[in-house]
Amino acid sequence: MTAASALKIMNVAVMGSTGSIGVSTLDVLSRHPDRFRVFALTAHRNVARLCEQCITHRPAFAVVAAESDAVALKADLRAAAVDTEILWGAEALEQIARHAQVDTVMAAIVGAAGLQSTLAAAHAGKRILLANKEALVMSGSLFMQAARSGGATLIPVDSEHNAIFQCMNGHGMRSGSLGSNQGRDNGVRRVVLTASGGPFLRVAREALRDVTPDQACAHPRWVMGRKISVDSATLMNKGLELIEACLLFDLPASQVDVVVHPQSIVHSLVEYCDGSMLAQLSNPDMRTPIAHALGWPDRIASGVESLDIVRLGRLDFEPPDLERFPCLQLARDAAEAGGTAPAVLNAANEVAVDAFLARKLSFLEIPGIIGAVLAEHSVRSVDSLQDVLSADQWARRQAQVAVSLAAGAYA
Ligand code: NAD
Ligand code: MG
Repeated sequence: MTAASALKIMNVAVMGSTGSIGVSTLDVLSRHPDRFRVFALTAHRNVARLCEQCITHRPAFAVVAAESDAVALKADLRAAAVDTEILWGAEALEQIARHAQVDTVMAAIVGAAGLQSTLAAAHAGKRILLANKEALVMSGSLFMQAARSGGATLIPVDSEHNAIFQCMNGHGMRSGSLGSNQGRDNGVRRVVLTASGGPFLRVAREALRDVTPDQACAHPRWVMGRKISVDSATLMNKGLELIEACLLFDLPASQVDVVVHPQSIVHSLVEYCDGSMLAQLSNPDMRTPIAHALGWPDRIASGVESLDIVRLGRLDFEPPDLERFPCLQLARDAAEAGGTAPAVLNAANEVAVDAFLARKLSFLEIPGIIGAVLAEHSVRSVDSLQDVLSADQWARRQAQVAVSLAAGAYA
């Protein structure tokens, strides 16, 4: 018997399988049929892509948002002789995330829409590969507590956090269940998140006024969904990641630094109290952190080509420009305020980014909307899911009002 055939096959639910992370995950999974079975796939509206994925991967379940899409998908799959069971609606996402036969949940739904299913996976003690940073940012310590009490194993997929996780390996991160003060107990002086700087790194502030959604989504290094692409262009993505790092590694915001690294080769660094800095380097391809998270503690092939450091020649680092990109400071302030502030930041950002993508708001107005909503907010502690959802809904309403006022000026 070979080592591979002795492995237990892991059932994986890919939440958000039609998105950028979902597609990369299926690519890695398909390289390891001896280790993984695609147990469930979920999508919001992209039924055509989900149908193709079901035909290729033959999951036991597939989930869509709307009943009409579920009916259409079922008919298409029956015609293709695929007997995947089709479910629909938000509750079905939670059912899948906590399903007794699911071992691993890839949390790759974008935005707050992924919160409940990711929390369900935490409560059910699953192995959670966390791409959906917004769910963690919103629910904060509540989510970490759910993961701990549910016995879940949390492995970061976000490339920066996955890099930190790798750099901390062997320094107290044996269980993979993060956020229990490993950082401070294990000689970590600080972590340094790297940011590509996005497509507007060298664009003057005045020129940012007229940038279009397509320009904002044309990321120089990564191909990603449109929401995270805009977040990368405003640097809010790095702000959300700062909060994500504080939670995952149990660090105060003061121990999380951000540097701009335009090549996106060093995915983050950890500095230890003896002056050592460890970094993780790879080509900018999400299949590397996805394969790491899927295989951990083993290493498995990802399909990503070798990094040619000689051809690369140099690595550059510079400080972020907080004047042109105020979202990073807004996020740092929210991290320091704690409680409901990150949920409010996240919700206001989602509304502002949607409005920008719908051409109802200019790029430069995004931080103004978020800042205005945060300024109106009285921070409260987060003791229940209801506290998170109330803060989220309140911030969305406030942001909608601010957007409609700003949109009048923009039109
Ligand atoms: P994407 O927009 O490409 O895909 C999002 C997925 O979520 C799709 O499958 C979509 O059908 C599903 N979805 C959207 N709204 C939904 C809803 N209301 N209900 C149920 N499903 C819904 O996004 P992405 O780039 O793959 O990013 C996914 C998550 O991973 C985000 O949280 C993002 O921040 C994070 N992430 C992405 C990257 C990347 O390189 N793309 C890197 C790090 C982290
Ligand atoms: Mg990232």
